[in-house]
Amino acid sequence: MRKILIVEDESSIAELEKDYLELAGFEVAIENNGTAGLARALSGDFDLFILDVMLPGVDGFEICRRIRESKNTPIIMVSAKKDDIDKIRGLGLGADDYVTKPFNSGELMARVKAHLSRYDRLVGEGASKNEIIEIRGLRIDKTARRVYIDGEEKPFTTKEFDLLTFLAENPNHVYTKEELFREIWGMEAFGDIATVTVHIKKIREKIEEDSSNPQYIETIWGVGYRFKV
Ligand code: CA
Repeated sequence: MRKILIVEDESSIAELEKDYLELAGFEVAIENNGTAGLARALSGDFDLFILDVMLPGVDGFEICRRIRESKNTPIIMVSAKKDDIDKIRGLGLGADDYVTKPFNSGELMARVKAHLSRYDRLVGEGASKNEIIEIRGLRIDKTARRVYIDGEEKPFTTKEFDLLTFLAENPNHVYTKEELFREIWGMEAFGDIATVTVHIKKIREKIEEDSSNPQYIETIWGVGYRFKV
């Protein structure tokens, strides 16, 4: 569940925001003074902050500035004074948005959701660089060279990994053992095509629930192997 921290000294406003956010499926924490709010913001694992500007102790500007020293988490500033908005912009504190009191709760919710999804996209772009092949419960991370079955990682040797990846990238295509041997072992090979059979067997033991009835790599008798999609 996504966690949101509200730092707000007017408890009626804080409770109203909390109710709406919880209805929308968020987990919400409230701090009602700036000092506790700052400490909580820096130590906790939150997905978004809603900061009032005028607070006892540390003000919202300072909390915003301090959060930005270490986190890119979305921040929405809330203020009763229109002047504060100019100040937020002018100081370049790194707030993502601002809302003036009194505000419409629906509008606040829309902004919360918009900033969370924008942040997800930003983070996602950085995190999804790995090239992934996913077929049913099988997940091959080509970048990290790791293989998972139903979320559980299986240890693969280099050649096993190359062979599985090659077949999975070329599904519904029957390859002879000779073709696979050339493709994966190439000129460095000292073995023979029986190596292919041995490797297929080892791969099946790792990814198949029942090796005698394979769901991923089929044996085409007298011809070779084919990856099923
Ligand atoms: Ca206040």
